Amino acid sequence: MPNANHAAQTPQARHRVAPVAEELGRRFSEAGFQLALVGGSVRDTLLGRLGNDLDFTTDARPEQVLRILRPWADAVWQVGIAFGTVGARKDTREGGVAKSFQIEVTTYRSESYDRSSRKPEVSYGDTIEEDLVRRDFTVNAMAVALPGVDFIDPHGGRDDLAARVLRTPGTPESSFSDDPLRMLRAARFAAQLDFEVAPEVVSAMTAMADRIGIVSAERIRDEVNKLILSAHPRKGLRLLVDTGLADRVLPELSALRLERDEHFRHKDVYEHTLTVLEQAIDLETEGPDLLLRLAALLHDIGKPRTRRFEPDGRVSFHHHEVVGAKMTKSRLTQLKYPNEQVKDVSRLVELHLRFHGYGSGEWTDSAVRRYVRDAGPLLNRLHKLTRSDCTTRNKRKAAALSRTYDGLETRIAELQEQEELDAIRPDLDGNQIMKILDIKPGPAVGKAYQHLLELRLENGPLGEEAATVALKEWWAAQA
Ligand code: ATP
Ligand code: MG
Repeated sequence: MPNANHAAQTPQARHRVAPVAEELGRRFSEAGFQLALVGGSVRDTLLGRLGNDLDFTTDARPEQVLRILRPWADAVWQVGIAFGTVGARKDTREGGVAKSFQIEVTTYRSESYDRSSRKPEVSYGDTIEEDLVRRDFTVNAMAVALPGVDFIDPHGGRDDLAARVLRTPGTPESSFSDDPLRMLRAARFAAQLDFEVAPEVVSAMTAMADRIGIVSAERIRDEVNKLILSAHPRKGLRLLVDTGLADRVLPELSALRLERDEHFRHKDVYEHTLTVLEQAIDLETEGPDLLLRLAALLHDIGKPRTRRFEPDGRVSFHHHEVVGAKMTKSRLTQLKYPNEQVKDVSRLVELHLRFHGYGSGEWTDSAVRRYVRDAGPLLNRLHKLTRSDCTTRNKRKAAALSRTYDGLETRIAELQEQEELDAIRPDLDGNQIMKILDIKPGPAVGKAYQHLLELRLENGPLGEEAATVALKEWWAAQA
């Protein structure tokens, strides 16, 4: 983690912008317009995370932006044009290294929101100050005017960045009334940047949590995904639960905080879930994995509904994986996740307990095959989910479980290898053998077949021609 404090106080770091940004700044200035790097790009530069995403703001209207970008960029997008945003891609070569920049140029906006609608209303502004004040957090409301690299920070974003705190430029209440999605964005940035949310912002989130109801499922889903894919999801998820926002967007998560019964002891499912999520993240090998993380987060959501206090003083959650899979499906569908993702995550939730029937290795080969078949392409994720679903403090118990799972993975590998071997055929089949050797069906055909199979296992595929030569040589030696 770069030291924000240090970076924010170093003038060079403050003014180091990509050459491609300065180049674009010159073009806008030649055309008589202002251009400034803004938002996440400025924040991330100060944090020492240099990305390939560059967000700009300008007084030029979208049609004028298009006129400047078209002859310069390698591709231009107009999907966001109704909201004043033109997108572009610029491929560059810096010091012999190819780099591709994703660029967004948004016309200054002025304060104007329809407070009852689901989408922000767009009206253009004339000054950058007006634009910055309507941004979500002070750390996102800094700009670098180009090409002169003047730092513009009317709301003290640099100090907040150094203090690692999220504050709104105006009062949080008016900001969240303008766009309630910003409450989720607070949790998302806390999780991504490992920042604290200022107390007055947390209070406003708590008081206004209900307002998230006017925001579309798609916008909510996109922020939830960014939060879950962040480096510190536990932090963001806790904020959602503590402020009551989770009750509106992911009530199944809040519901995991079961009151603990004095007589019936069981693990705290909420804390367990957050730990499983972190353990799953630790097992990721190819970067953040949304499906694995969602499955870890949701794997036990069937527990509150299936909890029973048994007469013997124990607590049971019979079939919570089946109930949980159904709940997962309905929640993710409501949040407008793509069908494939809904299916995959529910499947993982449904299968997360299967391994517990494995005992100390009593499954038959066919049970192991069924496990593999049911998981299909999700097998690798199921391995990770099952392994992370062990949060016991008892080290011996944890080690034993992990060894048992190693055993299952070994058996899967052995069966797969065996099945691949079983599927291997010689390069020539019986009919070809009879034709080539001009013989009738009989034991010689079987022997020839075995011989070719041996050659195939020994050397890999030979091809028809070489196999024919080898077959004839073998036949000659038989005579
Ligand atoms: P990243 O792209 O890394 O997720 P970002 O800060 O660039 O982070 P975006 O969602 O791309 O976030 O938004 C770009 C900038 O636009 C933000 O930094 C912020 O200044 C502004 N912004 C985006 N969404 C909102 C919003 N709902 N309300 C106010 N300002 C916003
Ligand atoms: Mg961005």
